[in-house]
Amino acid sequence: MNHFICNTCGVQYPKSINTPDTCLICADERQYIHPDGQSWTTLETLIDSGNYRNTIVTEEPGLYSITTTPGYAIGQTAYLIQNHGFNLLWDCITYLDDSTENEIKALGGVDAIALSHPHYYSTQVEWAERFGASIYIHEADRQWVTRPSDRIIFWSGDSLELDEGVTLYRLGGHFNGGSVLHWEHDVNKQGLLLTGDIIQVVADRQWVSFMYSYPNLIPLPAIKVQEMADKVNTLHFDRLYNAFHRIIKENAHQSVQKSAKRYIAALEGKLVNMI
Ligand SMILES: [Zn+2]
Ligand SMILES: [Zn+2]
Repeated sequence: MNHFICNTCGVQYPKSINTPDTCLICADERQYIHPDGQSWTTLETLIDSGNYRNTIVTEEPGLYSITTTPGYAIGQTAYLIQNHGFNLLWDCITYLDDSTENEIKALGGVDAIALSHPHYYSTQVEWAERFGASIYIHEADRQWVTRPSDRIIFWSGDSLELDEGVTLYRLGGHFNGGSVLHWEHDVNKQGLLLTGDIIQVVADRQWVSFMYSYPNLIPLPAIKVQEMADKVNTLHFDRLYNAFHRIIKENAHQSVQKSAKRYIAALEGKLVNMI
């Protein structure tokens, strides 16, 4: 019996003798089935291969990125926030070994894990069990949880304060329960937003984008993009971190608003040179 992991998205399944027939996450049009077909592994196999390690980098005081090298599956980065004794893991990655556990324990461990959307559910239950943490997922994405656990708390509504100044906001868009994390009490008091790929940072780190499906390049409707921009317009933040270690280092609030305007103008055929 194994907890099989899909090699394309890195999401883990309940214990079974045989590999699952298909991956729920990858069969959806917001992911994809690998052209060579579905393939599976286990966390033990990844560890035993000796091919992978996690690198933990201090991004700014109290904020750490955790990235697997070489990249595995979708290749996202997770973040650890230290908020006055409350440690939150934002999004999750598949690879988890003893040295990662020890490094994170030295930083105070993990009290809670919060997820932006199903593409990063990865081995979240393994992480929750190792650190004795709860997992926060918006109830609108309940159907995408491939490995159920008593540690998962489904939250509802538009926002949830996990600790003082650490609040989840549901924006929807890419996924119905798509959420971002606002951290108010960071060291320079300017506020920051962690967005997974609910708000995506683009190549120049000055602009963002919003998509229904990234692999299939399917955009979101203008009304939804406006709604997402409006929801973060009231928040105070100047930096923004996406799931691929792309960071807007200043004026991120303005970047989101101007990018939403550009996106909507494009959908309406109003960008210069467009038609
Ligand atoms: Zn998958
Ligand atoms: Zn995604």
